[in-house]
Amino acid sequence: MDVRPNSDEARDIAYHFHSYTNAEAHEKIGPLIIESGEGIHVTDSNGNRYIEGMSGLWSVAVGFNEQRLVDVASRQMQKLPYYHNFSHRSHGPAIDLAEKLIEIAPVPMSKVFYTNSGSEANDTIVKMVWYRSNALGKPEKKKIISRLRGYHGVTVAAASMTGLPYNHKSFDLPMEGILHTTCPHYWREGQDGESEEAFASRCAQDIDDMIQSEGPETVAAFIAEPVMGAGGVVVPPATYWEKIQAVLAKYDILLIADEVICGFGRTGNMFGSTTFDIKPDILTMSKQITSSYFPFSAFMINDRVYQPIADESGRIGVLGHGYTGGGHPVGAAVALENIKIIEERDLVANAAERGAELQAGLTDLTSHPLVGEARGIGLIGALELIAPEGKSGDFAPGKLGAQMNAIMLRNGLISRNMTDAMAFCPPLIVGANDVREIIQITKKSLEELA
Ligand code: PLP
Repeated sequence: MDVRPNSDEARDIAYHFHSYTNAEAHEKIGPLIIESGEGIHVTDSNGNRYIEGMSGLWSVAVGFNEQRLVDVASRQMQKLPYYHNFSHRSHGPAIDLAEKLIEIAPVPMSKVFYTNSGSEANDTIVKMVWYRSNALGKPEKKKIISRLRGYHGVTVAAASMTGLPYNHKSFDLPMEGILHTTCPHYWREGQDGESEEAFASRCAQDIDDMIQSEGPETVAAFIAEPVMGAGGVVVPPATYWEKIQAVLAKYDILLIADEVICGFGRTGNMFGSTTFDIKPDILTMSKQITSSYFPFSAFMINDRVYQPIADESGRIGVLGHGYTGGGHPVGAAVALENIKIIEERDLVANAAERGAELQAGLTDLTSHPLVGEARGIGLIGALELIAPEGKSGDFAPGKLGAQMNAIMLRNGLISRNMTDAMAFCPPLIVGANDVREIIQITKKSLEELA
């Protein structure tokens, strides 16, 4: 990149330490600076307009210029810009949102706890699970099972539960007591001659075996995304969830559904738990809860989780946990308005309808020799690229996705490559013509890549 001195690019390279970026490479490549957004589009500092095919980071449900969210944030800023929920304090937006979340929960839930990011929510959940086991007089019941390629965030416990190598390597993770089981990706993990149904049974059996070998009395919870997002968009086999839940029930193990991506319509229902008939004890929410206009997260717990925790904090005198920004009034007001917009405009139905079109379009692209698999549900999907025999350099397996990403960007579509899987996760307001354009640009980009 040709970087002018004192330009935004030069200052970004000089001062800005980026997340999920190769720090060395950034000094050569420089940033893509996004300046504005409108609907499903964003525009960069050179005036190039892109379809934001990832909703930012799987998160902007209502598009990039929703005035109602701006207005509600501004009104709340003027009325009460900040308050907390420590020591019995509360405020209207936190109460209204908690009530709304319990009302729309996919299964009966009891209470909402507020946090600030998906990672922080999941980290807090680990502590709550431990606290509950202590409260129940089962201090040995602390281990948590997550899945290889699952993504639960980057704080110490959340990163440990994440099942991806670059979140562990050189960070001295995962921490003790976090275990990883099979990734339910049939295309990648299925054995020769194994049916999808048999693969689902094997995944459940792997968990059963792990619980048995660790000792069922030591395993407290299982955490999973209904559809894996950052690990490559993995939709499990049809009977997977039923089989997993039977194993967990057998050993009295809590189920945590991490709905940070799936929540608020992404899979064609308000929650992924409904799509897959999952009955979680704990449910994590973030991202689309505010369309990411405000950093915000929360989790819901049922009575089975809440009651022992409440009893224990009564004995101790106080629940020694909470965040200054938890349940922030501006974030809570934005979340409520965002959910109202999703309901009023029936964006969940739009996710199902446009989602079916997106999935059909991706499936059509599997006729291309560079595409190994199309997968997804609702408005979340992926194309797995496979390098042709004998290709090396930038077109070798593991590098193809980055090439495709650059080509798609040049063609006006922002995707995100997870190694060689290209992800698609457009805003829930996407229209039928937009979906067609996403598929057309992807097809054209595949032709350029070949
Ligand atoms: N859980 C899931 C399923 C996610 O996809 C993410 C982020 O992508 C997180 C947790 C972590 O959220 P955050 O980046 O807000 O910490």
